[in-house]
Amino acid sequence: MWRPALPPAARRPRAAAATLLMMQTAKRFQDVGLSLIRQINALATAQSVNLGIGQPNIEPDETLREMAARAARTGSWHYTPNAGLLSLRKKLCAPNGFDPKSEICVVAGTQEALYAIFQAYIDPGDEVLVPNPGFVAYPTLARIAGGIPVTYEIEPPAWKLDARAVLKKITSRTKLIVINSPSNPLGSIADRAVLQEIAAAGPLVLSDEIYSEIWYDAPPPSMLGMGANVVVINGLSKSHSMTGLRLGWIFAREAVMKPILVAHSYIATCASAFSQQLAEMIHDNAEWNASWLASVRGQFRDQREAALYSIEHELEAKIPPPTGAFYAFAPVPACDTTSFAKSLAVDEGVLVIPGVAFGTAGEGFVRISFAAPVQTIGSGIERMGRYLRAAAR
Ligand code: PMP
Repeated sequence: MWRPALPPAARRPRAAAATLLMMQTAKRFQDVGLSLIRQINALATAQSVNLGIGQPNIEPDETLREMAARAARTGSWHYTPNAGLLSLRKKLCAPNGFDPKSEICVVAGTQEALYAIFQAYIDPGDEVLVPNPGFVAYPTLARIAGGIPVTYEIEPPAWKLDARAVLKKITSRTKLIVINSPSNPLGSIADRAVLQEIAAAGPLVLSDEIYSEIWYDAPPPSMLGMGANVVVINGLSKSHSMTGLRLGWIFAREAVMKPILVAHSYIATCASAFSQQLAEMIHDNAEWNASWLASVRGQFRDQREAALYSIEHELEAKIPPPTGAFYAFAPVPACDTTSFAKSLAVDEGVLVIPGVAFGTAGEGFVRISFAAPVQTIGSGIERMGRYLRAAAR
């Protein structure tokens, strides 16, 4: 019987060393670890009160489940075009005049959109302007692409984006400016005039509008159509509580879109055909969709009120009400918020995210997600207040 020849024993250690070398992480990923958000969430137990969550605490209603069942029953399971089903692209482009053939790309969630855009545009040494505090993925993705994240600051207590803070950071090496409104983790919304000023500054602008449907006073202004240099990303993760179905999209003018579409085709090929079909059904069911979005906003408004009440009474902090998304960025009296959040998770079983996870300007704050039932919000913040008072004694 034939047996494969084994290498002589004397040569095995060298083979092992070679294997080790082969298994060495690529340099661009060597300094990329799990985010502080994931580290805190890893401390969760079944009993934890979780105010660290970045996704809606909303389950699909009967209609949404029925549409999903129909999409599974009747839809195609094959690859779609890289840019997504043309029928879906047409629907998404109808209200804004973007060309469904060349100016939209459907993706596997906005996280994939971010990766594709950074890969398509960032060269080693390019500067990427990112918000501080801001969503953790932006500086990390800039580094993975070999770029240099340069922060622009957003100031407390209102956390309103100021065009001057962004414009003063532009240099000849600035390749991309990242804007996120409504903001994770700040819950603030940028003014239209500010966004217009940034769009007119020159560099490519990436506007992450994933929280655009979650607002309390007025819908947030979109950067869509503010210039040929503006790329807008959005999706169904937050508005329809579909984080696990990975469905997002990118709008960009044709010339800007071309390399992004190529990057996307190598990352994901196409977004899930099932999720695309479901997205189309959601779009077609306009009456249901309007009432769904109103009820999502209503639920978050109640939860926001609960969070604001407890923050004021338990943490003795009065913060401007978040105007979008589902996060409150609350001050915590002088302490290292990372150790605070870790010991709060272990000792009290309450999970909040230290502000510094979102950049240096977040030190002294914690992000409280109010994507949780009102009772959970109340008891979590109450326990946090008790813990802080005991520590101060
Ligand atoms: N951008 C921001 C600001 C986010 O908070 C998130 C999710 N936490 C994403 C993008 C990614 O969302 P998804 O990939 O689910 O669309």
